Amino acid sequence: MQKKRITFIQPNLIYIKRKRRLRIEPTIYSKLKWLTPDDFECELIDARMEDVDFDIKTDLVVMSVSTLTSRSAYSISAEFRRRGIPVVLGGCHVTLCPEEAMENADAVCLGESEITWPKVLEDFKNNNLQKIYKCDGARYDFHEVKADRSIYKRYKYVPISSIEFSRGCKFNCEFCSYAPIYKQQVTYRNPEDVAVEIKSNPNKFFLFVDENFGNDIEQTSKLCEALMPLKIKWFAQMSVNALQNADFVKLLAKSGCKCLFIGFETTNVETLKQMNKMANMKKDSYDIAIQNCVDNDIAIAAGLIVGSDTDTRESINETYDFVSKHQILFCNFVNLLPFPGTPFYNRLKESGRLIFDKWWLEDIAPYHTALFVTEHFNKEEMTTLGYDYIKKYYSYREMFKRFIHSRYKLPVRIMILLGNIFLKYYYIDLTA
Ligand code: SF4
Repeated sequence: MQKKRITFIQPNLIYIKRKRRLRIEPTIYSKLKWLTPDDFECELIDARMEDVDFDIKTDLVVMSVSTLTSRSAYSISAEFRRRGIPVVLGGCHVTLCPEEAMENADAVCLGESEITWPKVLEDFKNNNLQKIYKCDGARYDFHEVKADRSIYKRYKYVPISSIEFSRGCKFNCEFCSYAPIYKQQVTYRNPEDVAVEIKSNPNKFFLFVDENFGNDIEQTSKLCEALMPLKIKWFAQMSVNALQNADFVKLLAKSGCKCLFIGFETTNVETLKQMNKMANMKKDSYDIAIQNCVDNDIAIAAGLIVGSDTDTRESINETYDFVSKHQILFCNFVNLLPFPGTPFYNRLKESGRLIFDKWWLEDIAPYHTALFVTEHFNKEEMTTLGYDYIKKYYSYREMFKRFIHSRYKLPVRIMILLGNIFLKYYYIDLTA
């Protein structure tokens, strides 16, 4: 009997029109591939890197969807469904907006896909695909599922492998779309399992895609001990509070940590309170976190959010001056987006302040469009708010000023300068 063919598709971000070669492999499809028995044939199409051929021979299309890929995913889905190919959608956006996803798919998976996938496969094999698959609050047991990266062989990805140690975050920030999904519950993998997965991978660079790599210092420290003999270099995102402990940051560095993405968001205390950003509340915690990273040659990528109700031009300028003073490698000033399913989205909707009810379905660039206005910023100002600060931060004048005054050692400073030049021409252009 001929094997049934499954095509996984990684949709492109809704605001990126061009295809780019420099991409990191997605994470979820290697897990789904590992869970799929050999009586199915699987392939991956990465719509970030090539146009999707809608006439390929396939029996089922499967996509993991985030809010920022939803419109692309729905249009890909429509093309395949028009050709009679069933489409299954999962991922965080589908979990948060199930009715909308159901209108755009034959079946949807809510919650962690690793739990629902075996049942989807069984029903698909028996030509009995259901409309909805739910986890009913169950969390997936990390110890059971491994990654089969053979699904990525069609593409030449950047040689940085994406990997997970934990899932979920213990905080509950108002704007964060992970918070309503994981409800402050975090699950962890066994550090030895992570080390085994890394050892079996020829890459020497790894990106931990965990929502918050610093949820539990004790757990992360155990992982660092297991990583130490592997001599790898790794990157992750972590909350400010975890970086207050100098010994912990030293351990991160010893295990190969080279760069951390830290959600500073703002230096405006009123805005932090409104965001319920509890990880950032302690006075002086930013200075301590940055100093600990500098002392251990760990570069910093800072997440910065502008356009909250309590932000003013002066308060954003203060945040800018703060990150500029600390010569931070990568500063991503972005407009605050109201992600569906979050308390922030609900607050704006209930008070009638959303300019687009479902902005992710509009043909707009969300980071360059006013999605709501505040007392301090009108529609025109909101349109360019984050982008204006990014452009300033990556002007040659600012980049060289940071290079000259940086507290990092010279080799790290050179790497940071080169990284800045790369970001100026690759990343900033990409968000425009
Ligand atoms: S700390 Fe980060 S991952 Fe955790 S809830 Fe806040 S924004 Fe989300």
